[in-house]
Amino acid sequence: MLKVEHIGIAVQDLASANQLFAKLFNKAAYKIEEVESEGVNTSFFQLGETKIELLEATQEESPIAKFIKKRGEGIHHIAYEVENIEAEMSRLEKEGFTLLNKVPKQGADNKLVCFLHPKSTNGVLVELCQEIIK
Ligand code: ZN
Repeated sequence: MLKVEHIGIAVQDLASANQLFAKLFNKAAYKIEEVESEGVNTSFFQLGETKIELLEATQEESPIAKFIKKRGEGIHHIAYEVENIEAEMSRLEKEGFTLLNKVPKQGADNKLVCFLHPKSTNGVLVELCQEIIK
């Protein structure tokens, strides 16, 4: 893995969280994007090499809605950038980690992503991401 690409934070209300984080960081989000397949609206703030992703549920079935219901707002996942997501997925599966998706899927911010079940990673949801080169 190359670096922490971003940290995902689950929020109840994206518009007000965007304002709050813009004040905190003293800069605005550089991107606001809906990921329909995940049932979320996201925003991204750039802080040096790392980003902060805010996630708001757009429907009750969204993993973010379920997370907030169970645990409240807060840190939802840590995303690590990888060079070759397929290779990393098969390496981690062989190491005994549980992959939540068996093929990389399209994530926010122009990325291919895969999630690891938090039960296999000490309670922290792990996202692998690889930039899609266009
Ligand atoms: Zn993420």
